[in-house]
Amino acid sequence: MGIMFWNEEIETLDRKSLEKLQLEKLQASLTAASQTPFYRKVFEDTGVDIDSIRSIEHLQDLPLTTKNDLRLSYPDGMVAVDRKEIVRMHASSGTTGKSTVIFYSRRDIEDWADLVARCMVATGTTPDDVFQNMMGYGLFTGGLGLHYGAERLGCLVIPSSTGNTMKQIQLMQDFGTTVVHITPSYSLHLVEVIRENDIDPHDLSLKKAYIGAEPHSEATRKKIEDQYGIDAYNSYGLSEMNGPGVSFECTEKQGMHIWEDFYIVEVIDPHTGEVLPDGDEGELVLTHINREAMPIIRYRTRDLTRIIPDSCPCGRTHRRIERIKGRTDDMFIISGVNVFPSQIESVLMNVPEVGNNYQIVLDREENLDRLHIKVELYSKMFHGDLKELNRLKETIAEKIRSTVIVNPRVELLEPGSLPPSTGKAVRVIDNREL
Ligand code: AMP
Ligand code: ZN
Repeated sequence: MGIMFWNEEIETLDRKSLEKLQLEKLQASLTAASQTPFYRKVFEDTGVDIDSIRSIEHLQDLPLTTKNDLRLSYPDGMVAVDRKEIVRMHASSGTTGKSTVIFYSRRDIEDWADLVARCMVATGTTPDDVFQNMMGYGLFTGGLGLHYGAERLGCLVIPSSTGNTMKQIQLMQDFGTTVVHITPSYSLHLVEVIRENDIDPHDLSLKKAYIGAEPHSEATRKKIEDQYGIDAYNSYGLSEMNGPGVSFECTEKQGMHIWEDFYIVEVIDPHTGEVLPDGDEGELVLTHINREAMPIIRYRTRDLTRIIPDSCPCGRTHRRIERIKGRTDDMFIISGVNVFPSQIESVLMNVPEVGNNYQIVLDREENLDRLHIKVELYSKMFHGDLKELNRLKETIAEKIRSTVIVNPRVELLEPGSLPPSTGKAVRVIDNREL
């Protein structure tokens, strides 16, 4: 029997006590934030008296903080402690634009490790597990974040970082890796290399994968689970809120718990900024209520999701969010239609003949937008029968057309033709002139 909870008291705290705790921590965070040049000015400019914030709803009186605010206050306009209290910095991976920098105090690093351990235990991981961390070490939070959490839990940690696929496979075999942390796109590439080396992925000791850092569909999760014969858990985080460990699936795999003793969750209408009721889809806004070095209030994540209001059978009282549908800024408009890459991914990953890599290319020909989809075939299905390939192309095009209402040009490719991804995958290439 494994451990059920990392911190049972907090993870199962009744909602009323949890909300009371949130309010206390929020008030302390606002006081800390008011010490920073950035928030001192925000509070002055908007005339908000932080002492008047007496309920979580009052938080809506405060303005939202954006990525641009972080850039403008670079490097330390949002730091709330003395330089000597800071022990670590990280940066966002620059998914869009210039990266932003985040600072941590000693206590922040300890708390973060605890949160990550909490997530790992929620998926049934124990100190007996061998954890291979295939996320980038360095400025990106994905590597070190899970590393400290897994050590805190007591796993044997293999800090293999990204890339060097042959070495990854050797480590998995030699040390009997049971849990990996990996981007979904790299996981799809890794399995191909495993097979090319005549290893059956099902023969590995692997039991679980934590997949995160980039949007992916339920179909991709299923695909990864089938390919390796494992459970894949969605892991969500962002550097502005520590990094990984913000929100994680439990063994129920029905949405990701978000740790409400650390974060206040809001979902807003991305156009009006209005806070939406639980269950409605919109942009996730997070307030970190437990951070010393860099308290961030009402941060616009740009990530689209919704709160799942029902309670979870696992017993945790912290609410869940649904898998991220995409970022408000990765949606593209083609021939006037709004399309999220995840919609196309979902279609592709449900076609058995489709392999593990794809690319969406947007072109403009004679003033018309063109949606061009390059798809690698699954090696076992690739025998070059032209008629069969043409039929497959038509099927894929038809499925995409009925999902996103745009007529795509589908190109089928041999496995391994597209550049493999080791970190966050680049899925959309927009060649259109502005
Ligand atoms: P970074 O700050 O560089 O770690 O990037 C954080 C961003 O990565 C988030 O705001 C999301 O857009 C994306 N991301 C991280 N984890 C996930 C996940 N599990 N599903 C979808 N997107 C994710
Ligand atoms: Zn649960």
